[in-house]
Amino acid sequence: MVLAITLNPSLDISYPIETLKINDVNRCQTVSKTAGGKGLNVARVIHQMDGSVVATGFLGGNIGKYIEDQLTEQEIQHQFQHINGETRNCIAILHDQGQQTEVLEGGPTLSVEDLEKLKALLEDLVGAHDVVTISGSLSKGLPEDSYVQLIEQLNAKNKKVILDSSGGSLKAVLNSNVKPYAIKPNLTEIEELTGVAVSLEDLTGLKSLLLGEQFMAIPLIVISLGADGAFVKSGKQFYRVTIPKINVVNPVGSGDSTVAGLALALEKQASLEEILKTAMALGLLNTMEQKTGFVNPLNFDKYFELVKVEEI
Ligand code: ADP
Repeated sequence: MVLAITLNPSLDISYPIETLKINDVNRCQTVSKTAGGKGLNVARVIHQMDGSVVATGFLGGNIGKYIEDQLTEQEIQHQFQHINGETRNCIAILHDQGQQTEVLEGGPTLSVEDLEKLKALLEDLVGAHDVVTISGSLSKGLPEDSYVQLIEQLNAKNKKVILDSSGGSLKAVLNSNVKPYAIKPNLTEIEELTGVAVSLEDLTGLKSLLLGEQFMAIPLIVISLGADGAFVKSGKQFYRVTIPKINVVNPVGSGDSTVAGLALALEKQASLEEILKTAMALGLLNTMEQKTGFVNPLNFDKYFELVKVEEI
């Protein structure tokens, strides 16, 4: 079973409007409201692939309740730590033939006490789970080393943790002695973290960076490259994963689907090749759907076979 943690979930609201009028009233006939946030996308994709998953993290207020109800309706198991604040809304206005204007709330401000309560919940919850995903940004008010603390707790129970975050919270993990089993940055995130310009053209430079102190002790590093697939470090070996060309409908959430694939395959104790093919196939299946963090499982086998893994 996979446990999918999201510390700062959201209710993702999409407003399709033909023409966005600034400083005027915009009326919208159809609204979609989806349980969102990266870890909830991970949980949804695992569930769609018939995997067992429990979604957890922080939820609060009426919006938190709405998200819990929606997860229950979709038969996705969940057990969240309730907070005093209100879970955030994230609004995407889809307008003017393919344009997207977003309004993202920062979310509630949490405290160290909230983090301690979540850790106590995890202590109870995590027993049944072999793989744990931690996705997204930290809520305001939480210490920058919150993920270090969670990973330390989970590592002590021999769980395989996949961390998908960026910025300060990821940096805190990379600079600590506490390492997750896997991370899934993209090239831009690697550059931001290290301050070093990286590219696939300079493989030697990229490899030596990943063999450096910050990254070496992380068993699996999947650098996702959008339409170009991924570059991977497993132990001390490196791999190039390539994917077929497809018609992209909406790439948002592909990284989360990739994480879902890593978790599903790790949980099955699959081979490295199968882990990477599952992750890439789910990432690309997400891009073929309108909805974020959503895949069509019927297409899985076909695209799984088309993903190629080569040691380099
Ligand atoms: P993130 O959203 O975290 O930056 P990526 O954009 O690298 O992640 O996408 C994650 C994975 O999703 C890729 O490795 C690939 O498998 C798939 N993917 C993303 N964009 C495309 C695309 N344009 N065409 C095909 N597959 C894609």
